[in-house]
Amino acid sequence: MRPSILDRLLSPISILRGVGPKLEKIINRLGIFLNVHLIWHFPYNFIQRKFYEDINLAPLNTLVSIKVKILKHYPSKFKRQPYKVTSISGNSEVDIVFFNARHPVVRSMLPVNTTKLISGKLEFFRNKFQITHPTNIADVSEYLTVNEKEAVYGLTAGLNQKTISKITNQIINNLPEFKEWINKSIIKKYDFYEWKKSVIGLHDPSTTTLQNNYRRRLAFDELLAHQLAISIIRNINIRKKSINFKTKNHLTKKFINSLKFKLTNSQLKVLDEIKNDLFSPNQMIRLLQGDVGSGKTIVALISMIIVVEKKYQSVLMVPTSILAYQHYENIKNLLKEFPINIEILVGKDKGKEKLLKLEKIKNGSADIIIGTHALIQEGVLFNKLGIAVIDEQHKFGVYQRMAFNYKNQNPSILVMSATPIPRTLTLAAYGDMDESRITEKPIGRRLIKTTALKFNKEKDLIERIKLKIKNTNSKFFWVCPLIEESEELDLKAATERYNSLNNIFKNKVLLIHGQLTEKEKEKIMNKFENEDFRILVSTTVIEVGIDIKSATTIIIEHAERFGLAQMHQLRGRVGRNNFDSYCILFHKNQINDIAKKRIKIMIETNNGFKIAEEDLKIRGPGEILGKKQSGLPTFNVADLSFDSDLFEDAKFLANEIISKNPKLIGNDGDQLKILLYLQERDAAIKTLMAG
Ligand code: ADP
Ligand code: MG
Repeated sequence: MRPSILDRLLSPISILRGVGPKLEKIINRLGIFLNVHLIWHFPYNFIQRKFYEDINLAPLNTLVSIKVKILKHYPSKFKRQPYKVTSISGNSEVDIVFFNARHPVVRSMLPVNTTKLISGKLEFFRNKFQITHPTNIADVSEYLTVNEKEAVYGLTAGLNQKTISKITNQIINNLPEFKEWINKSIIKKYDFYEWKKSVIGLHDPSTTTLQNNYRRRLAFDELLAHQLAISIIRNINIRKKSINFKTKNHLTKKFINSLKFKLTNSQLKVLDEIKNDLFSPNQMIRLLQGDVGSGKTIVALISMIIVVEKKYQSVLMVPTSILAYQHYENIKNLLKEFPINIEILVGKDKGKEKLLKLEKIKNGSADIIIGTHALIQEGVLFNKLGIAVIDEQHKFGVYQRMAFNYKNQNPSILVMSATPIPRTLTLAAYGDMDESRITEKPIGRRLIKTTALKFNKEKDLIERIKLKIKNTNSKFFWVCPLIEESEELDLKAATERYNSLNNIFKNKVLLIHGQLTEKEKEKIMNKFENEDFRILVSTTVIEVGIDIKSATTIIIEHAERFGLAQMHQLRGRVGRNNFDSYCILFHKNQINDIAKKRIKIMIETNNGFKIAEEDLKIRGPGEILGKKQSGLPTFNVADLSFDSDLFEDAKFLANEIISKNPKLIGNDGDQLKILLYLQERDAAIKTLMAG
């Protein structure tokens, strides 16, 4: 049971004063759902806002607080006109100006003849002091509570500093006291403060210490929890024996012989590594990395057949139902001559049909089960699960992957990733797994010719596409840029591009984006594949493993905005056949040095591992594992480019703790469990309980 001392922190923000359903939704957009998330959303800056008795001494164009007496209101008469309020501070007049103001709001904030303390940027305009959109308006009696220094938080539309501070303060000013969970030597080594003091310090604008000291302590907590969770899960895995899947390998050999191609040396090597695991009494937990198109799926399928031959079940979990269907069709086709039953389970399966599928999974008549995260939901029981393969895993978390583990058996686990990441980072990203890499592409596969093209050459590009569409049956992906972290804005750009292309190529263009339902997306993909549509305009949704063999060219618009890893992923959508394939990095006329460098690397190499290493050099590990990157495990506070020393120590400490106290019992264990809850590593705790 979770200790009740955590209840408030782990409750939704809706329990806070002033957070109604509407504001809750807005704040959720910042990734803040629980009260504890407000702690991790710490200020990125602090501003000074000094109080001046005499406005004439206040420096212009800085943030100040001044006392004013409100004189008169001049509401705006038309849209563009500002709403002006005149006031007097000492002997000087001050205009308080609002654009697009709601009149009743301004009237009630600044009643005539009252004295107010207002804060904001002081300007001098047409011989008069002026403050536009004051950041704070307080009664003079509140003078003492108006901070001279103020925290600046990241915002989102509909949220202002005052609101987020007020809400955050409800948590910061009311933190529980926890007993220390970090050991003394680490505390001493880094001069850490205790948890509560660190949280307060991190948010406190008046603190004199470097905020980084507080941040580092919380970063250590986060890394420690991450490592503990990994160790716990790993530890439990190790204790469990798995099945030795050794058989005569009739099916496997027959399958390999039935393939129209020969496995590459790289595939064979990886297959040996996998067999070594499967033909031993230990559970396999292995990460299989390989560039898009390097042939991971075949290797995984062979591993699944090994397991099936031993009369165990295999599952393949993928992030979307489109991918699930693609794999289903593909694998069914490859195995049509084999006595292997294949089933598919996705989120939209309902009713009788679903029950039937669940029954087949439970009674063992389904040998290979393909699906989405629907596979790890309650109610899905396997008869004898031998291996779980998880494809394109960066869309799943560590725990979803491990979920198969406490589903009544301990299958071997093979995680496939097409996002090659440098060795130095795999541990942080994936936890403690064995690693296999496919480093070569199937012979005959052509490299994707990559070129860069400036926006001012758009006409040429269109002409080239026209020719190609006329003379060949090639198809194009046109990917539109990430504008911000906003689906809506992405969609706007993609829609505009779609419209302009559709004007030129009537009835040949389709649009796909993240706001569509899975069903709608599938429909569009099908149309693109099977009908005479030639250009598929998309937001970055196609990044995840879509396999359309007929597309030979990908155009990445605003290439300067994409990271290397992402561009490489996108490029992998083409070149999946034996036709010449192209990637056009279509970019702004003027781009910065980093963007230039990225584009240069893309042109120079098709090797994903090399690109990953270059990416690391350009960006540093913090960004690669950082918040906004495609769902690799992320840290709220820790930043691996500054905290790699902490990371090493956290890893060491976690291993030490778990080897001494694997079930986290006793007082020390209780403190660590609190840490795990606080860091939302509940799955690790569940594993502890189950193991
Ligand atoms: P990945 O999952 O690594 O992106 P896939 O396994 O989907 O790659 O393979 C991409 C394509 O290459 C598939 O059509 C597959 O049948 C084919 N393929 C796999 N291995 C080989 C090989 N050794 N030789 C030729 N083609 C191969
Ligand atoms: Mg794949």
